[in-house]
Amino acid sequence: MSDKIKVLSQAVADQIAAGEVAERPSAVVKELVENAIDAGSTKIEVEIKQGGVGYIRVTDNGSGIPEDQLETAFLRHATSKLSAIEDLETIGTMGFRGEALASICAVAEIEVISKTKDCEEGTYLELLHGIPGEKEPIACADGTTMIVKKLFANIPARMKFLKKDSTEAGYVADVLGRIALSRPEIAFTYTCDGKEIFATSGDGKLENVVLKLYGLDHAKAVIPVDYTEDHIRISGLIGKPELARGNRTRQTLFVNGRYVKNHVLAKVAEEAYRNTIMVGRFPFFVLSVTLPPEQVDVNVHPAKTEIKFANEKQIYEVAYHALHSAVVGSQKPKVEEIPVPPTERKLEPIITPKQSDFTPKETITPKIGSGFSEFRPTAKEPSVTPSLVRQFMEYTIPTRTEEAPKPTVLREPEPEETLEQILDQTPIQEKMEEVASLPEQKREPTRIAGQIFDTYIICQQGDSMFLVDQHAAHERLRFEALKESYLKKEKLSQMLLSPMVINLDFREKQTVLDHKKDFLDFGFDLEDFGGNSVIIHGTPIQSDEQGIRDLILELAEALMEQIKHPVADFEERALDMISCKYAIKANHKLTAMEMEDLIRRMEELEEKGVSTCPHGRPIKIEFTKAEIEKLFKRRV
Ligand code: ADP
Ligand code: MG
Repeated sequence: MSDKIKVLSQAVADQIAAGEVAERPSAVVKELVENAIDAGSTKIEVEIKQGGVGYIRVTDNGSGIPEDQLETAFLRHATSKLSAIEDLETIGTMGFRGEALASICAVAEIEVISKTKDCEEGTYLELLHGIPGEKEPIACADGTTMIVKKLFANIPARMKFLKKDSTEAGYVADVLGRIALSRPEIAFTYTCDGKEIFATSGDGKLENVVLKLYGLDHAKAVIPVDYTEDHIRISGLIGKPELARGNRTRQTLFVNGRYVKNHVLAKVAEEAYRNTIMVGRFPFFVLSVTLPPEQVDVNVHPAKTEIKFANEKQIYEVAYHALHSAVVGSQKPKVEEIPVPPTERKLEPIITPKQSDFTPKETITPKIGSGFSEFRPTAKEPSVTPSLVRQFMEYTIPTRTEEAPKPTVLREPEPEETLEQILDQTPIQEKMEEVASLPEQKREPTRIAGQIFDTYIICQQGDSMFLVDQHAAHERLRFEALKESYLKKEKLSQMLLSPMVINLDFREKQTVLDHKKDFLDFGFDLEDFGGNSVIIHGTPIQSDEQGIRDLILELAEALMEQIKHPVADFEERALDMISCKYAIKANHKLTAMEMEDLIRRMEELEEKGVSTCPHGRPIKIEFTKAEIEKLFKRRV
């Protein structure tokens, strides 16, 4: 390293600054498209080649840049949108720092063609790494075309950091898709290597943008939301529970027209779906929050997506109210989705009459008006949270093969006082001792008494009665079988009698094909089928097309996530996903033989010490004869 302090040349300084705004092709597209929006365009075309590294073109029909300002637009801190610091408070446009064009042109070659309405002809200008050439008149339509070529060709270090072209093209699709969702009144087209990926109509209807981006199944299953309170407007579309997925990639949130990520707001939305969506699934939504600009801190970097609200609590409350009423209004909760694990609903039999003050309210609904932080019960209202109940149940009724859990296994008591109170008033210690002191007995044969609610199997074995959750049990069995084959490197896929063709969006298809080998390991034998489709020759499980499609997408997302944040038990998780899709669902009548078979296999597993489904929900809940007698007051 040289020991002399040097002032960086402007060119180097610009390249460094460019890293912040133009970190990859999708970021360049975002800046160019936002400029086009600010220019009042109603039609914006984006075309890229080679993942955008080779070529990006954005053409709009907006105001155009006057000929005499063409070079100025590319200077650092050149903006037509902000001149005084006070403007920051109320700025309504997408960009205002005047650094995007300067940054982009520091790391690429740019051609710009622009024409304003009042000019007869347009102007052409080329800039090579920031240095403008001669302007030339050119015949063109009103508006602006920006062409960015050889992006990062002069910065090999940044080049190296880019992903494969197809991945970068996927990022562009993501960014542009989101912008399209935020502006249904603008017609967007996205073309990649000569192929049109999507085109929205610009008719102002958000449903139609959803249709173009996500397909008919999504467009048909959305519920409109539009609710205003105290100058806060929540509008957009939320998906019916069946559109829920294993992660949050299909949740889109805008605040005053800008795409943002806000974890808490996403949580509020999920809270609104409580009990209609299974735990671990996330609803689909495209939502806009519109509020007076001074209530949002805009002074976050425009390339970043974090957001700060002046009055968070109020916004969350309004959002919750808007969404909850939309969900409730449109949907009767479905029982077969098993929204709450059975243990969480079945508290009464365990709590002795002494604790009747603690009989849980059916569900814990957030209290509007008491603030978001009170989404859990307060100490004053000693109600029982589902997770608390689960802990309590696990704690009091350990299966026999398990060691009696120690109090330290209790996780996240919420809130602490309530837990303490319950611990105080519940004879947990007593029960634990009782269970622990049960003599090791030789297993008596299990007798199946029947099935209830088409979901649970009732059995008697020796001096105890137990309920088995048929879904949880079957899922675990399937999981163990898949895992065994996987570890032995046996082929998991079974040939389909007739291959299945499924349609995916551009990005999904790319991801799936990028991970073809992993898919094969997990039992999916698939190939590119041209267009938006892949063809599937073999699958690890039997399921309908929808089930397979969901599963493939879930796996693709998990594989992507694994690259970013590897987790050690990834294979297990993937196998779990697969087994979950196949397992017998709740609300399904079983024949006596099916029950026999399930229980027998479950008991084999139990002998190996497995007593939960792969998600950790219990497979069986047991009541001893003594416990039942106590409930009937035959015993004290
Ligand atoms: P900012 O958007 O923050 O003002 P940029 O560097 O992105 O800064 O753009 C600089 C200026 O160039 C803008 O303020 C705008 O006046 C002009 N400009 C850029 N793109 C367009 C476009 N597509 N149509 C009209 N004017 C544009
Ligand atoms: Mg800009």
